[in-house]
Amino acid sequence: MSCIRVIFSEEYNKKISNMTDLYRVLPEEMDDLVIKLGQPRYRADQLLQALYHESPKKMSDLHQIPSAMRDALVKDGYTIGSEDEVHRVVSEDGHTTKLLLKFDEKTLIETVLMQYSPTQDKTHPRSTVCVSTQVGCPMGCVFCATGQMGFEKNLKAEEIVSQVLHFANILRQRGEHVTNLVFMGMGEPLANYDETIRAIKLLTHPRAFGLGQRSITISTVGVIPGMDRLADENIQVKLAISLHAPNDELRKKLVPTAGPHSVGDLIAAAKRYFKKTGRRVTFEYALIDGINDSTKVALELAYILKGNGAHVNLIPMNPTAGGFKRPERKRVLAFQQILRNGDVNCTVRVEKGAEISAACGQLRTDMIEKIR
Ligand code: SAH
Ligand code: SF4
Repeated sequence: MSCIRVIFSEEYNKKISNMTDLYRVLPEEMDDLVIKLGQPRYRADQLLQALYHESPKKMSDLHQIPSAMRDALVKDGYTIGSEDEVHRVVSEDGHTTKLLLKFDEKTLIETVLMQYSPTQDKTHPRSTVCVSTQVGCPMGCVFCATGQMGFEKNLKAEEIVSQVLHFANILRQRGEHVTNLVFMGMGEPLANYDETIRAIKLLTHPRAFGLGQRSITISTVGVIPGMDRLADENIQVKLAISLHAPNDELRKKLVPTAGPHSVGDLIAAAKRYFKKTGRRVTFEYALIDGINDSTKVALELAYILKGNGAHVNLIPMNPTAGGFKRPERKRVLAFQQILRNGDVNCTVRVEKGAEISAACGQLRTDMIEKIR
């Protein structure tokens, strides 16, 4: 009996591993695919148009292509993966929506939409989607709910793409669209480099989703080899480094895996990135009450960043388990002023949806017992 079970399980695994989700197929690969199926190249554009702008949930929703071609795709192991929305919370002001999406039993992740009122010249609100790249995170930052859940797995490109398309579908029904994308959800994008880059290529390709490259920000805790690789890609995305401390002693307390990379190494890598791409890096700094928010620390931060043309984005922390608190508003403003006095460009992040557990990983942590 157990022997049969083993055989079944191996067959099943083989079947799954032979399947390819159409949401990971790049436009050039789609051209090859339709030609291999004996179809004209324009079928690739029909497929891409349907996938990225019409939200099909299954193969039979692809009405634009002949049924014989759909059957051939299924026979060759192509699928259209779809996610289940298992939970949705909307902030009181309606500007922030947080979803828990489930791809399979092991893949439950958070995706957030943050909307900002339209400016005078624009009729649509800025609609930023914040995506996850991993289930959990191996970096273990002590103030981060995702870091505290440990690492479970890397997301595949199609799972990253589907998070954006899920919100794109919601927005389309309101006559709106996704304008910006940030890699600031669960996980470290540069520790899942290839799938993150494939997802960006799919989301920005004019024949696929077509989002502007400059509307995308990748946030990293400082995976230096990944930053150097990114600088060599021909992709115009913005880069943000989560610094959180001006010296190694304090940084290692907050980012225990910072190990091999010193604060000095990170600043040097940011300079290389700027030199190569012409795009300035932003430093993110989660302000934690009594930990990294003192006048002394602010002066030290101003000192190391002065003259770099650096931009610091202060994030008053969202409280998570672990007893860390957000500093009082006046402390945040005082910290900002010290940096500005030191000639360092500094803004404070607009708080979005704190009451709906908007810090990455919090909603999943809150909900996981209830829904599993
Ligand atoms: N792993 C990447 C991207 C995901 S985290 C990174 O660390 O940059 C995105 C941002 O959210 C990071 O700047 C991170 O420091 C911040 N963050 C994590 N937990 C937070 C919390 N509880 N309050 C405020 N910011 C938090
Ligand atoms: Fe991972 Fe970023 Fe959270 Fe650190 S802050 S644990 S790198 S997701």
